[in-house]
Amino acid sequence: MIKKRIMAPGPTEVPPEVLAAGGQPILHHRTPEFRAIFAEVCEEIKYVFQTSQPVLTLAAGGTGGMEAIVVNLSAPGEKVLVISGGVFGERWAKIAEALERKVVRISVEYGKAVKPEDVQKALTDNPDAVLLCGTLSETSTGAQHPIKEIAALTKSTNTLFAVDAISGLVACVFKMDEWSVDAVVSGTQKGLMMPPGLALIALSERALATVKSKKTSKFYWSFESALSKLTEEKLPDTPWTPNVSLVRQLQVSLQLIHAEGIENIWKRHELLAHATREAMKALRLTLFSDAPSVSVTSVHSPTGIDSGDIVKKMRAEWGISIVGGQGSMLGKVFRIGHLGYCDRTDVLMTVAALECVLSQLGVPITMGEGVKAAQKVFLS
Ligand code: PMP
Repeated sequence: MIKKRIMAPGPTEVPPEVLAAGGQPILHHRTPEFRAIFAEVCEEIKYVFQTSQPVLTLAAGGTGGMEAIVVNLSAPGEKVLVISGGVFGERWAKIAEALERKVVRISVEYGKAVKPEDVQKALTDNPDAVLLCGTLSETSTGAQHPIKEIAALTKSTNTLFAVDAISGLVACVFKMDEWSVDAVVSGTQKGLMMPPGLALIALSERALATVKSKKTSKFYWSFESALSKLTEEKLPDTPWTPNVSLVRQLQVSLQLIHAEGIENIWKRHELLAHATREAMKALRLTLFSDAPSVSVTSVHSPTGIDSGDIVKKMRAEWGISIVGGQGSMLGKVFRIGHLGYCDRTDVLMTVAALECVLSQLGVPITMGEGVKAAQKVFLS
């Protein structure tokens, strides 16, 4: 028997309490019982975004939420700046191009974080850009971008700043209001410790004003429809059938997050990331990113080894799902997620299994060195 465990940067493992909430009978979404749960979720979710602004809950994956932001905050023909330093930064560009926006890329070498001066130059060169899209934690490369510094640049311009915090929210320090970020999208299958299926979107005052004034073609993605239902009557509602079971699970996951405290959760993620990085270095492996994210650690595959073989062996022989490289990084990197419902034991176990796999693949490592390095971090 092999137990299945997830150490991927999403979907992540789900705590038993949250799983159990998903097994509750379906509530009709127009009942006072469901709307009371939804009201609690709409209020408590603000804490994880560190905002007092409304947060929309759409029945969609993260990509749907990204598309919804582009659809509501820009119009066809308008200019959209995109920080493209990985598969998910590039996804913003692909969405905007598919929707006939004029995309200007701020290209970032994979594995690096964008330099704020490059963003400043793009903003200066493109004062007509209505939107700048970036990524908090670029899951494909394992790089974390300096969102606070970028938001400080967009604040005084007419360009709204939208952040994909799909794999970054809850794990990485993120303060939407304090930093003046205009639009944030996240998903449920990462730091929120839930199954995939909800896109959560928070909007600043000036993003809300744009939503009202910009008349673009949309229907299901209309933030105006969602916002009007959110503030309807005494309890918030949704224009379309919400994902009722996921909303119930979100209620429980938010209760767990509140009980631990967001600052403690950020610290836990920093510790897990630090221990994972130290373990990789002790095994003489090279990190792919020099601005490593606290959600995911991306590692160069040892010379001559296809990272897909490491991933396959980890899953087949140890039951642990880590992931390989995406796009141009296919076969060249493997990535270990350490976010959401993840603790020190998960990291120790993953490093120990990885040592076995690398050794079986003939990589000249000293068994135990990685585990020892992680243990040192945890005990220091
Ligand atoms: N952005 C980032 C940073 C992600 O990690 C992901 C999911 N891996 C997405 C966007 C896309 O989310 P989804 O797969 O839920 O559409």
